[in-house]
Amino acid sequence: MRYFPFFHDLQGKTCLLVGGGTIALRKARLLTKAGARITVVAPNIGAELAKLIAATGGQCVYQPYTQAHLNDAVLVISATDIDSVNAQVAEDCNARKLPVNVVDDPSKCTIITPAIVDRSPLIIGITSGGEAPVLARMVRSRLEALLPSTYGLLGQLASRFRDAVKARFSDGEQRRRFWEHTLQGPVAEQVFAKNLDQAEQLMRQALDGADDAIDHMQGEVYLVGAGPGDPDLLTFKALRLMQQAEVVLYDRLVSPPILELVRRDAERIYVGKKRDNHAVPQQDINQLLVDLAKQGKRVLRLKGGDPFIFGRGGEEIELLAENNVSFQVVPGITAASGCAAYSGIPLTHRDHAQSVRFVTGHLKEGSCDLPFTEMASANQTLVFYMGLVALPDICQRLIAAGKDPKTPCALIERGTTPDHQVHTGDLITLPLLIKNTPVKAPTLLIIGSVVSLQSQLNWYKGSR
Ligand code: SAH
Repeated sequence: MRYFPFFHDLQGKTCLLVGGGTIALRKARLLTKAGARITVVAPNIGAELAKLIAATGGQCVYQPYTQAHLNDAVLVISATDIDSVNAQVAEDCNARKLPVNVVDDPSKCTIITPAIVDRSPLIIGITSGGEAPVLARMVRSRLEALLPSTYGLLGQLASRFRDAVKARFSDGEQRRRFWEHTLQGPVAEQVFAKNLDQAEQLMRQALDGADDAIDHMQGEVYLVGAGPGDPDLLTFKALRLMQQAEVVLYDRLVSPPILELVRRDAERIYVGKKRDNHAVPQQDINQLLVDLAKQGKRVLRLKGGDPFIFGRGGEEIELLAENNVSFQVVPGITAASGCAAYSGIPLTHRDHAQSVRFVTGHLKEGSCDLPFTEMASANQTLVFYMGLVALPDICQRLIAAGKDPKTPCALIERGTTPDHQVHTGDLITLPLLIKNTPVKAPTLLIIGSVVSLQSQLNWYKGSR
């Protein structure tokens, strides 16, 4: 470890900033955020910087730097573009054992400034010691994405309850368990949803409970949309909950690379079609979610696409609501959006379609019972989920209802994954093409004049 990280208390302390340009301005913004009082020394000081300094009780000294300016400073940052000035500042500070940072020149620094993720009171500093600053910034972006912007509120809540928790649990181990449970469980989720009153109430309830109450606290269920296949299409919230849950119930549509992102030690329960081809009955899944949550578990119900679009998400949370189990629903990118985007098919377009309809092509007693006459009217896009088996029937019935047989259609196979494939034709040719081509599930059928744009707008090649 080349550097030792410290967090410096600068409240009300004087920091000397040498230089008056844009880099100095950037540093000044950071320092004032931490409550520092800044003295800027430079023959020319930018107007914005001068304004900031005046507003934060600092001082602008319109002079070239001299050693005398170091008096009173607890920290010095040199941000000029003149090497000899930077070198002089560093040398003078070293002589006085004063911490100094020369921007973009680690060799002259006794302290370096990290990339910062600010979720005050939680503050994260990341550095590569100047060796790979872009990498450090990339790590920062990842952390920014993982920690919701409301994380700071959680820290503030913890700070408000700190003394009360200490008074309530004298045993350090109990205290630790209490915090672990509240900072990751329903309390945290209420904070992230900005229901601060609710969060405070839950905190108080938890504090009022018996010593072992924390071990018997109810769990909760996250009904999360995992998108159509490409893990990059997950939402930040989905990823966060995937890394937090202790049990995950998933089915066939959730792609393996997405499952990889679930917390390593989480119990995984497959509730899709079993080898004998029977799916776990829906009621059993609903009940399992209730039972697991009542055992105090944080349960992730991971669904392909969006849980509320042909995902039976509504049914699953009904029983949770009846049983007073707390839950949240996280939308996902539905197959229609994912497949259309990755195939270059805008679902609506001013010249082609003013509406889009998501339809299930699932057969009931061997046929699709759908309002074909309505669906045959022009200027709309039809998207059929679960429509592969019924595809010939759908095309034929649309024609019978008056739809132009030349209406372009696309069947998208395993959309957004590396195996993404698009088969195009019209209401007559696509059924014939599919008959003679092996197609792998899942597939999505898009019908409408927007499909004609595909050849021009197609961009995603998958791994082929
Ligand atoms: N809740 C899901 C849909 C579940 S129904 C969502 O919002 O996307 C299952 C159907 O979704 C499949 O039969 C198929 O028609 C469609 N589907 C899901 N993922 C798909 C994918 N990656 N490519 C093509 N179709 C997909």
